[in-house]
Amino acid sequence: RAKAAGGACFRWFEEGLGDTARQRLQLAADLRRAAGSDELGVAYQPEVDLRTGQAIAVEALMRWSTPTRGNVPPCEFIPVAEETGLIVGLGRWIMHDAVVAVAEHNRRTSSDVRMWVNVSARQLTGPDVAAGIVELLRELDVPTRWLGIEVTESVLADDERVLPTLVALRDAGIGVAVDDFGTGYSSFARLRDYPVTLLKIDRAFVQGLADPSPEAAERAAHIVRAVVAVGRALGADVVAEGVEDVELLRHVRTLGCDLAQGYVFGRPGTLAGAMSADGHAGQASGHEAPAGVR
Ligand code: C2E
Ligand code: MG
Ligand code: MG
Ligand code: MG
Repeated sequence: RAKAAGGACFRWFEEGLGDTARQRLQLAADLRRAAGSDELGVAYQPEVDLRTGQAIAVEALMRWSTPTRGNVPPCEFIPVAEETGLIVGLGRWIMHDAVVAVAEHNRRTSSDVRMWVNVSARQLTGPDVAAGIVELLRELDVPTRWLGIEVTESVLADDERVLPTLVALRDAGIGVAVDDFGTGYSSFARLRDYPVTLLKIDRAFVQGLADPSPEAAERAAHIVRAVVAVGRALGADVVAEGVEDVELLRHVRTLGCDLAQGYVFGRPGTLAGAMSADGHAGQASGHEAPAGVR
């Protein structure tokens, strides 16, 4: 859990509360109650093309805010949603809303932005998952190229059930991204079989480029170059996650990444805000604006 957590999830440990079963049950009960309410929202973050400086894609990130708990970070509530199965309904909701939002944006501005939605294993292992997603897009009259799904390497590990679904999604024109690439269990042998259109280099490697130790920074650069080469070999674009400042932005561009994502373009926020980001931005404020509610 600590690894998946990133920054915000060390909170519990710092406060010494521990991650007790009772607390998780309470969280699950609150989340079940919140589902379908305006406590849940979506924050959007752009992915910027490093050749043009244009935001060409955007990632949808689930947000949950309650009067008593404040903003609950996804690394706290997503695992609970996965364990309880609530993620299936929540995932359906966020995909629907994110797709409707990007289609509205694209039509209004004559753009061709792709919306990336994070998808958990449980959302991909039911019957006819790919057909269901394609059907949703058809009902909404949204071209498949305006949607992409992000999965982690652990999701890909369930290859017998998940890979055929991902192949079907990709063949339908939907993007398939491997999230947090480099932190999971992929072997080079298995990588070859992934129907992947985008590799997202985990921010640990990206931020390693700024390591105060020159040796550590140089190792990080070698790793980023290697992931870019893997992306080329798979015919996938490569995006650097967690690009927080212009120094890192310059670095990942030099190392051959196609795209960058991170606080350098601003915190996740409204879709309009995300789409007005550009490659020269550096206006990151310290805090995230409240996510748009449903
Ligand atoms: P992720 O998919 O890897 O999303 C990127 C995370 O990095 C987001 O955290 C984002 O706010 C954060 N981030 C973006 N730029 C920067 C940066 O420059 N520096 C740093 N330090 N962090 C940055 P967030 O929103 O807290 O989400 C955490 C994770 O929760 C996501 O990681 C994803 O795995 C999961 N998640 C979020 N929304 C959903 C969802 O709708 N469904 C599912 N299944 N998982 C979700
Ligand atoms: Mg993601
Ligand atoms: Mg990621
Ligand atoms: Mg991540």
